[in-house]
Amino acid sequence: MPNDRLTVVVAAYNEAQSLPVLHPRISAALAGIAELDGRVLYVDDGSTDDTWRVLCDLAFADPRVTLLRLSRNFGKEAALTAGLDLVTDGAALILDADGQDPPELVPDFVAKWREGYDDVHGTRIARAGEGWLKRTTAHAFYRLIGRLSKTPVPADTGDFRLLSPRSLAALRQLRERHRFMKGLFGWVGFRSVAVPYERDARIAGGSKFNFWQLWNFALEGITSFSSAPLRVATYLGLMTALVAFAYGVWIIVKAFAWGDPVAGWPTMMAVILFLGGVQLIGLGLIGEYLGRLYDESKNRPLYLVDEIRPARSDATQRA
Ligand code: UDP
Ligand code: MG
Repeated sequence: MPNDRLTVVVAAYNEAQSLPVLHPRISAALAGIAELDGRVLYVDDGSTDDTWRVLCDLAFADPRVTLLRLSRNFGKEAALTAGLDLVTDGAALILDADGQDPPELVPDFVAKWREGYDDVHGTRIARAGEGWLKRTTAHAFYRLIGRLSKTPVPADTGDFRLLSPRSLAALRQLRERHRFMKGLFGWVGFRSVAVPYERDARIAGGSKFNFWQLWNFALEGITSFSSAPLRVATYLGLMTALVAFAYGVWIIVKAFAWGDPVAGWPTMMAVILFLGGVQLIGLGLIGEYLGRLYDESKNRPLYLVDEIRPARSDATQRA
């Protein structure tokens, strides 16, 4: 009787074309691992295409598949949280629905887990099918957040990872609304190890994230895991004040030594505009944090469930 249970959690938003290709790869990978009770949990994140019907077909054919449908599109991080919340037994492995994280690597992840690691994450050594701009901005972002965050955020690491039961339990305690998952995993800690892999191109369709969303995602990461920007505002203010003070002394000295002819319109304008700009940036920064505080204070649930279809293998066990 296999004693290790592993649930592969897949968040899917409009992935009707990828899922029928992906599922056989996942089940083949799971079947190849000895002594493992492998499960698959699909979270339909409010898809507007055929995804739910495709998933129902998959679950009909495969008794190890559990389905979860959210009431609307809550975004990948919330969908993953919903999925992970359902995994109460054994470890979980997070995988993208588009086939960019190869299921063929699952045995390697499980091997690391059995060695005693709690957080086995895939680190991309190549990104196929992603443009120059996405690659460089992603690279810059990972370097920046790595420096700003106090807890580790491994570079070039997505959500492709295996979590041991105890890190899952730990993650479940983090209920913040602004969920920067990559950072949350690092915050949890325990023993982690990276598995390098080559990120494939999508099976079908395009990325669900445009540049504006990625920019917001980056902001989310930085504001959730660092208050450094607020400090930058403080230091910028301090520096400006110092320069302004020195300049003030100079003006007074100048007035005493050479009198006070009215002049300096360009300097005055420059200083006013500069200070106005700095103040607005500072305010905007505070606003970013305040807005997040406001969201947290509303204490709404992270997601709402429309429907759960338990794996048939569980249903027959219970009957
Ligand atoms: N996804 C989701 N909800 C969303 C957007 C995306 O569940 O609102 C899923 C999507 O179906 C895929 C994964 O998140 O399984 C990654 O999405 P995508 O491939 O578009 O991101 P990228 O690989 O471009 O970063
Ligand atoms: Mg993708």
